[in-house]
Amino acid sequence: MTSSPAEHNVVLVGAGHAHLAALRLFGINREPRMRLTLITRHALAPYSGMLPGVIAQHYSAAEAHIDTEPLCRLAGAELCIDEAIGLDLANRRVVCRHAAPIAYDSLSLDIGSTAGLQDIAGVAAHTVPVKPIDQVLLRIEAARGRILAAKGSARIGVVGGGPGGIEVMLALQHRLAEDLAAAGLDCTGLAFVVITAGPDLLPELPVGARRRIARILKDRNIEVRLNSRVTEVMAGAVIVNGCEEIDVDEIFWSTHAEAAPWLRKTGLALDARGFVRVTESLQSVSHHDVFAVGDIAAFAGRDLPKSGVYALRCGPPLARNLRRRVQGRPLQPFKPQRHVLYLISTGDRYVVGTRNGLTFEGRWAWRLKDWLDRSFIESFRSAAMDPAGLPKPETNS
Ligand SMILES: Cc1cc2nc3c(=O)[nH]c(=O)nc-3n(C[C@H](O)[C@H](O)[C@H](O)COP(=O)(O)OP(=O)(O)OC[C@H]3O[C@@H](n4cnc5c(N)ncnc54)[C@H](O)[C@@H]3O)c2cc1C
Repeated sequence: MTSSPAEHNVVLVGAGHAHLAALRLFGINREPRMRLTLITRHALAPYSGMLPGVIAQHYSAAEAHIDTEPLCRLAGAELCIDEAIGLDLANRRVVCRHAAPIAYDSLSLDIGSTAGLQDIAGVAAHTVPVKPIDQVLLRIEAARGRILAAKGSARIGVVGGGPGGIEVMLALQHRLAEDLAAAGLDCTGLAFVVITAGPDLLPELPVGARRRIARILKDRNIEVRLNSRVTEVMAGAVIVNGCEEIDVDEIFWSTHAEAAPWLRKTGLALDARGFVRVTESLQSVSHHDVFAVGDIAAFAGRDLPKSGVYALRCGPPLARNLRRRVQGRPLQPFKPQRHVLYLISTGDRYVVGTRNGLTFEGRWAWRLKDWLDRSFIESFRSAAMDPAGLPKPETNS
């Protein structure tokens, strides 16, 4: 790729939530000297908030994805469907699986996270990882096919007590009950279990939200095994705490997030789990021409939850700082909000929510989530079709 000397090459790797938000802002207000490129594995980027709704069949897969093609057109960005597999930091180039290396002046990584699989025997061979999110729907669909082929006689387990795994389990339970009823079968042959190493489910949520989810799991006959660290996985069973065997036919693996292994060879400063350590201006602590946002970023001195909500919040400050870098102006700090709204869907058009320590639940909360999620997706579609109609956001100064 060549550029005129006056141009500043900004390369975005990964169509994660923060990059989608940043592209939208560049589309509303283009930066004249900025030459933008997005490298992403797939043109369609999943929106995590709606994925459990796709599993439960409240949405089609298309409804829960954002098409990066019109978004890139809007932002004047080149779209490169490829996978970054390395970085040449000295020569400022992204190494791709297929294309020739892509040069940058500023680089931003928003590549999400993967499920931590590495250390436990049998995990890679016998489980369905719930991350990365661009592969989760296909994997769950394959598992659903196997369960239906067994005519609904299956024990289904989720390993991990976080919101992603619990939402997936509740959505899948709802969907399988409908599938089996449509096939003239009942769902009494299905059994569900959540297995977590910790003493609580959803430790990052307030106690009120945890109690509500625990009650719902009980009402839905989902067994919960706390203080149960999976130490080995075999075909058809897991071993917990080194001694007890639990029979499970399908195992969804949703433990702590980990970073893509290829980052370890780049020379970027990483934290112990391989995430890119960033300053409050979202720049790598070791390489100021590299930014990292969303799950892949590790904020120095503050551990933010790995969630789509926080990833999205990084979009406007990232766009602002990339713009400022192109303009040669000082960068500004990102101050993430302490309190965010969490809405956890339970598969049956019902939601448990929490904000500022308060918790609530109901069908009305599902309708709120549905409206927020659909409006979010729609904001990208209408932006791509009619950029002139969008308000100029104050955050993108
Ligand atoms: C089932 C499920 C439900 C969830 N629900 C919620 C929710 O309701 N609310 C919430 O806040 N969080 C939720 N989460 C968490 C949320 O998905 C993540 O925290 C969020 O997606 C992180 O966003 P991100 O911007 O870091 O990257 P992601 O959204 O994960 O996107 C990363 C993108 O980068 C691309 N990519 C990755 N590697 C490369 C590469 N090497 N080269 C090119 N492209 C690459 C991928 O294709 C992917 O599209 C959920 C997670 C799961 C698994």
